[in-house]
Amino acid sequence: MSEVLNVEEIFASNVFTLRTMKERLPKNVYKEVKHIMDQGGELSLATADIVAKEMKDWAMEHGATHYCHWFQPLTGITAEKHDAFVTHPDEEGRMLMEFSGKELIKGEPDASSFPSGGLRATFEARGYTAWDITSPAFLKEDATGVTLCIPTAFCSYKGEALDTKTPLLRSMEAVSQQALRIVRLFGNNDATKVIPYVGAEQEYFLVDREKYLKREDLIFAGRTLFGAPAPKGQELEDHYFGTIRERVGSFMKDLNIELWKLGVTAKTQHNEAAPAQHELAPIYETANIAVDHNQLVMETMKKVAGRHGLACLLHEKPFAGVNGSGKHNNWSICTDNGVNMVDPGDSPNENVQFLLVLACILKAVDTHADLLRQSASDVGNDHRLGACEAPPAIISIFLGEQLEDVVKQLVETGAASHLVDGGKLETGVSTLPDLVKDATDRNRTSPFAFTGNKFEFRMVGSSDSIGSPNTILNAIVAEAFCEAADELEKAENFDMAVHDLIKKYMTEHQRIIFNGNGYAQEWVEEAERRGLPNISTMIEAASTLTTEKAVRLFEKFGIFTRVELESREEILYETYAKTINIEALTMIEMASKQILPAVIKYTKTLADTVIAVREAGADASVQAEILATVSEKLSEAKAALTKLKELEAKASKMANAKEQAFAYRDEVKVAMEALRAPVDALEMMVDKEIWPLPTYAELAFEV
Ligand code: ADP
Ligand code: MG
Repeated sequence: MSEVLNVEEIFASNVFTLRTMKERLPKNVYKEVKHIMDQGGELSLATADIVAKEMKDWAMEHGATHYCHWFQPLTGITAEKHDAFVTHPDEEGRMLMEFSGKELIKGEPDASSFPSGGLRATFEARGYTAWDITSPAFLKEDATGVTLCIPTAFCSYKGEALDTKTPLLRSMEAVSQQALRIVRLFGNNDATKVIPYVGAEQEYFLVDREKYLKREDLIFAGRTLFGAPAPKGQELEDHYFGTIRERVGSFMKDLNIELWKLGVTAKTQHNEAAPAQHELAPIYETANIAVDHNQLVMETMKKVAGRHGLACLLHEKPFAGVNGSGKHNNWSICTDNGVNMVDPGDSPNENVQFLLVLACILKAVDTHADLLRQSASDVGNDHRLGACEAPPAIISIFLGEQLEDVVKQLVETGAASHLVDGGKLETGVSTLPDLVKDATDRNRTSPFAFTGNKFEFRMVGSSDSIGSPNTILNAIVAEAFCEAADELEKAENFDMAVHDLIKKYMTEHQRIIFNGNGYAQEWVEEAERRGLPNISTMIEAASTLTTEKAVRLFEKFGIFTRVELESREEILYETYAKTINIEALTMIEMASKQILPAVIKYTKTLADTVIAVREAGADASVQAEILATVSEKLSEAKAALTKLKELEAKASKMANAKEQAFAYRDEVKVAMEALRAPVDALEMMVDKEIWPLPTYAELAFEV
């Protein structure tokens, strides 16, 4: 018998939830906090003091000694600086633990060691963190003890965003305001805001920690930089949804408990397509909490893996030759009185609103496909997108058969009079169809798929923050809503106007719809004919942030200033160059100190054998032939290593970040591949006893 888990009790036990606040805070204070949570505004210092004291008491009752402002700088991960609640002892040497309202709402970390893309001059190195009251404080338990973590936004002293949360919150505000204008047009006067909801499915790999520690590439780059394929990959399709191995199962169990404590609704778990690959999906929630929680999911996965003698790989492509990992970002927008705007709904009125929203989303995604593509790019994802196992690098929308047909009818005839399944239409509003909710079929090859009551953006990389994709989604949809509302609010005949606008948007942007196989070469050609952008790498995508079109969009809705955008572009080039540089140096180190010495040792054994066999008067031609082939690959590897060293040295000295990033992509990366090829060939020839690294087979199958 296993112990009984009381999940209801465990859930959110480490979170300063609304319920806890309601129990502990004076009524008027609770009301003020709740109001700001729902409608925005600033907490007065007096109120903040009361909240801080209760938060501290609650945290200390749970064993906390420290607090931290937990934030998400542009490193893609989170940052925290711990402070104890300790204060000056009194005269008698007694310590009083304290936490003030000021400490709760504002922190002043030194910003100079975080990426800023030139935003922060060194003479004003201070940045500040500000409490995001909409995301609950939580307790982190680890080797340092228990720490009260306060989710915060991180800005420069002048208020420029240095993180992923600030623009996300701004984008949520923007889409809420514009979406409200849309629902008002359809008579919804009760809604006070519109909330984007996000559910992020997270893929990951688990490998044995001992083996992981024997590979510098996994330690420094998070992925294998060398490695011949194992005899078995994922071709039998036996891992997807397969029985979960015992060791992995006990990891998953622990992971769930840790996540539940943090208020993360870990729900679905299964084996994924590649050997040693798995997935976890929580239930969707408000976008900024989903972003915070996804960070916690990633951190917790790594921490819990360690406890089970495992290492969790979140890299987009840990192993060549089998699937990489991504993150499906499920997104919808809902009014605070319960209307999901991307759900076809039940009444004709809701149907029309849905078609307008759909038309706006088609327009938004078509107009800003480049930005959406950018939002899903990171260094690791360059190995995935367009590689026929993940969505292509081209953005398109999958609507499913029924909706695609409705769009087609509207575009061609101005009316949609029937549904594909032959169902009869009751047209509540003249020329627009009543949609029946259907279980939209699946298209795994689409980067952006409508799945019944949400859109699933499948391009995002497994290690990346989902902050940026959701910021972009909210922003581009806010713009389309704004333009539609500008038109419709002044229309004399609303029914006519809305019909015409839906038809117009659908006609102008139907090229973004694609229901076919996104992995096929024909699609690449077709997309080019349609004029859709095909941006193949992260650094090409970076400049989409600063086009006039992008700056106009972001400035209009107060999401990014031009300066913030320029700094982000700069950071992307820097990050790319630094990451590839680490990979190159790791390869150089492994090849020079481990792989080539091992091969040289092997050639010595072979040479000795050849001589010994010949001396004994037997035929040594086989041994000699192997020796010749190994020696040939060895010299190929040596030449490639020399070349890589040369190109790395050259690229690392370049001053212009953009030029440098492109040099890493076009020269260093190419040289890395040229070194990998002979080394992987050698791995297949050299005695297993001599080969210095755990192999793919050992890593992926012996968990
Ligand atoms: P799949 O079959 O693609 O794995 P699931 O139904 O398991 O899809 O859902 C995947 C994710 O989508 C989950 O995180 C789920 O909570 C989330 N999700 C479901 N409905 C919505 C919605 N309306 N808005 C946002 N996310 C949603
Ligand atoms: Mg999915």
